[in-house]
Amino acid sequence: MNAASAATGIAPATQPGPPLWLLAELTYRCPLHCVFCYNPVDFARTSTELSTGDWLRVLREARAAGSVQCGFSGGEPMLRDDLEELVAEAHRLGFYTNLLTSGVGLTEARASALKQAGLDHIQLSFQDSTRELNDFLSHTKTFDLKRRTAGIIKSHGWPMVLNCVIHRLNIDYIEQIIELAVELGAEYLELANSQYYSWAEINRDGLLPSREQLERAERVTNDYREKLGDKIRIFFVVPDYYETRPKKCMNGWGNVFLTITPDGTALPCHTAKMLKGITFPNVRDMSVQDIWYASPGFNHFRGDSWMKDPCRNCPEKEKDLGGCRCQAFMLTGDAANADPVCDKSPFHPVVQDAVAYAQVPDARRTVVKPLVFRDPKVSRQLAEASSTPLGAHLSAPEKNSRSPPIL
Ligand code: SF4
Ligand code: SF4
Repeated sequence: MNAASAATGIAPATQPGPPLWLLAELTYRCPLHCVFCYNPVDFARTSTELSTGDWLRVLREARAAGSVQCGFSGGEPMLRDDLEELVAEAHRLGFYTNLLTSGVGLTEARASALKQAGLDHIQLSFQDSTRELNDFLSHTKTFDLKRRTAGIIKSHGWPMVLNCVIHRLNIDYIEQIIELAVELGAEYLELANSQYYSWAEINRDGLLPSREQLERAERVTNDYREKLGDKIRIFFVVPDYYETRPKKCMNGWGNVFLTITPDGTALPCHTAKMLKGITFPNVRDMSVQDIWYASPGFNHFRGDSWMKDPCRNCPEKEKDLGGCRCQAFMLTGDAANADPVCDKSPFHPVVQDAVAYAQVPDARRTVVKPLVFRDPKVSRQLAEASSTPLGAHLSAPEKNSRSPPIL
């Protein structure tokens, strides 16, 4: 063991590199109510937020630990009055800074202040290309405001990424979404098929597109890529339910990504807090350096000694590291199982079952569950209702039937 590994107790072969990517989730407050929101379902339980001083210290410690990119996110990060101060410090420290926003609160005055603070990049989210669907999916009247915000971003010379979460309800309008991005002058368009965590997991039956929808959307995207050339770069992220091998989630647990939640909890990914039995450290109690290298939470799924079969003896395990721990937990009740997206997993039928249901046209569905919109009151109700982990008590055969959400 070298000095660093002796201090951390991790064998040299699994000693991670630095936390290159810092995601600062400044707040869970958000004026929107997206049906696919990636914030934890029980976000309303988080009542405290780190102070400005705490965040400034986190930025300094993370930079000293080797972080180079910093994303300011939420909730809606524009709701923090100290955003400009935090961006200025991140810029001074040498971070490449990125703001992930719904656009609400990004006025001309604040944009000027953020430009002066050194903000490098903005990602603006849209829910759809039309006012009707954008406003329906976010349960707010924000479409016109987002269009104005896009103009403000452009007028300050930032490279603009438009992000649109794609799902069953808007995937058939992919042409219009691409046209909107071109019209607004975006340099990048992220067509991010919804991944089924948090609020999207609750609404999965209503959001998972059919294979036909997905294939058409990919075809249209490729046609546009050819037609538009270098004018705009379009990313198309496929929902992993349609794959037979899982994603190498977060490029490996505790390998590159460090998320700090609004109350200071440090996580290897923004949904990991759902994992029962793992204690994650808080930046109020521990330095970023110690959190990254020495905390039990961050070491829990490093390396491969935690793996069970079929991953343990799988020749492909270096490629995907067994997939996503949160997805394994949500769909099998055990985070150390193979991600059920993998067709070698005994739980893969859970995913196949959801995909099969997605092929049923809406008009032929006998039970149509209403969409659940992200909302603090609903969050509190759901948190109470799910004090036992979703489906954790179920065995594999029971899991193979399409399980209802936690409502
Ligand atoms: S996904 Fe929607 S509701 Fe969730 S934080 Fe982003 S803008 Fe707010
Ligand atoms: S069995 Fe595990 S390691 Fe092998 S391909 Fe599937 S998820 Fe990856």
